[in-house]
Amino acid sequence: MKLAFFGADGKVGRALVPVLERAGHTVRGLEIGEEPDVAGLDAAVDFTTPEAAPANARAALEQGVSCVIGTTGWDPQPLDALARERGLRVFVAPNFSIGAVLMMRFAEQAAQYFPRAEVIELHSETKKDAPSGTARATADLIGGDPVIHSVRLPGLVAHQEVIFGSEGQLLTIRHDTTGRESFADGVLLVLEKLDSLPPGLTVGLDRIL
Ligand code: NAP
Repeated sequence: MKLAFFGADGKVGRALVPVLERAGHTVRGLEIGEEPDVAGLDAAVDFTTPEAAPANARAALEQGVSCVIGTTGWDPQPLDALARERGLRVFVAPNFSIGAVLMMRFAEQAAQYFPRAEVIELHSETKKDAPSGTARATADLIGGDPVIHSVRLPGLVAHQEVIFGSEGQLLTIRHDTTGRESFADGVLLVLEKLDSLPPGLTVGLDRIL
């Protein structure tokens, strides 16, 4: 596919663009201040900031281009109407790592059979928010308001354990992100399925797994 990538020079962009190109896509990187000229492309990918992503997505939709967005911390709901009107797709996922999404799904399944669980999320010391969005989403899926422990240390990237306990047994479900390339598999999968999604907004990788 012919892609635009908003935020190609960011931390995620620098990891993802080479993987997308190796998979056969051509990528036009777009940075802040550049005219968002995406007309004629097949899709626009956005890993920027919560301030930039809504305008980038609107610009792409107005030029007839569907969007795949990983930027977190904003509400994509207002884009649904514009995308439907144009017969286009906006796919947004707070986590594009297939392993992390499966970890959450398995935790949701295990929660049906274990009375107690706690979540430990571990991230690099540069991550400012705690608990992580993934830990909060996992806790919502498990239900019962599980305790979340947040660890911030140098040497960590992004890791999460969900520990379930009952009389005489423990079950631990763990996912480790060791590099930002982990988000590429999810983006590639969404690009493959983009045209088969209904027009409008779709949120969450679990919707297509
Ligand atoms: P980052 O290193 O700060 O990169 C953001 C990039 O976007 C920078 O190159 C920035 O340029 C550029 N940018 C800002 N405004 C722009 C605009 N209007 N048009 C085009 N480019 C623009 O951040 P990151 O770590 O790559 O993360 C980016 C976003 O992805 C964050 O919201 C993060 O939470 C999210 N994220 C999501 C996932 C997921 O799986 N969904 C995974 C990781 C990260 P300047 O440096 O010049 O400002």
